[in-house]
Amino acid sequence: MSRFWNERLSFLSPYIPGEQPKNEQIIKLNTNENPYGPSPKVLQAVQTAVNDTLRLYPDPLAVELRQAIARRNKLTVEQVFVGNGSDEVLALSFMAFFSSKRKICFPNITYSFYQVYANLFGIPYTCPKLSPDFQICLEDYMQVPGGVLIANPNAPTGILLSCVEIEQLLQQNPDCVVIVDEAYIDFGGESAVSLIPNYENLLVVQTFSKSRALAGLRIGFAMGHPALIQGLEIVKNSFNSYPLDRLALVAGKASIKDELYFQSVVQKIIQTREWTVQQMVQLGFTVLPSQANFIFVTHPKKEAKTLFLALREQNIFVRYFAQELLSDYLRITIGTQKEMEALIATLKTWMV
Ligand SMILES: *Cc1c(COP(=O)(O)O)cnc(C)c1O
Repeated sequence: MSRFWNERLSFLSPYIPGEQPKNEQIIKLNTNENPYGPSPKVLQAVQTAVNDTLRLYPDPLAVELRQAIARRNKLTVEQVFVGNGSDEVLALSFMAFFSSKRKICFPNITYSFYQVYANLFGIPYTCPKLSPDFQICLEDYMQVPGGVLIANPNAPTGILLSCVEIEQLLQQNPDCVVIVDEAYIDFGGESAVSLIPNYENLLVVQTFSKSRALAGLRIGFAMGHPALIQGLEIVKNSFNSYPLDRLALVAGKASIKDELYFQSVVQKIIQTREWTVQQMVQLGFTVLPSQANFIFVTHPKKEAKTLFLALREQNIFVRYFAQELLSDYLRITIGTQKEMEALIATLKTWMV
């Protein structure tokens, strides 16, 4: 607290990201990063772009990157918006589409940034409870006054809604914007992008941070009706004309271009996920059905917090949420096959 803070600042409760330890020896399974790194072609493109042109501002419209994203998703450039990570895209969406006069709706267990943004922007909200097995109950999201926000697959559960279910949400809420945050959709889900031509109230948000292994460059994007994209552009240009720098624009384009590398990395992670789930079940864990690059697990006999601290001692970092409903669980990012073998081997020594 300081006497120089304004009255709003004193009431903010910011998002708390997972740890980014300096020690590189650790097995880092705590922030859902991609263990394989970006495509070599992306690295090459960025290296080539490190030159004198860095003195120039980047393209404020990010046209080439938006075109690449549009082509890959069978959309037009007017249906694509890019921002400095999907966190920023989400923040701009709150400013563009949600109002202090109408309640928005998102699940009580989901990406915790939604609540942070709602508080920051003064948007009222309700948070329907997930079912005891962590499923979203669609009947809780009918005729929502101000907007709907769903992470699909959900975080930190990894549980996926089908496109048919997303379409029900859209049909039940024709008068507000429905944001589907697809940060993890590439790991086994079906994107709602195909619904965009039929629903002017749908905004699909995705990121290069997880499946495309570019968390360090901060590239996120939204896809939707041109009127929604135009709204986002207006808010963006009232705040920061150049959210994506030259290197990020180049990397993003190169990443979209290297579809083969993208597919192979995603497939490897999915395979390792399925192997890890099997092993965890054999060790007596209950594992929620995940279509993401992480799993959410609990053990009937071992306390999650104890396991979290013990793994940490062994330089294996996973995520533990010390909060109601989540405190019996660990969220474990899917690393390389070797990293997951090390995790399982370590857990085994405690499970005799
Ligand atoms: C990781 C994550 C994001 C943020 O992604 P960035 O593009 O890195 O900002 C957004 N939503 C969910 C659900 C996430 O897990």
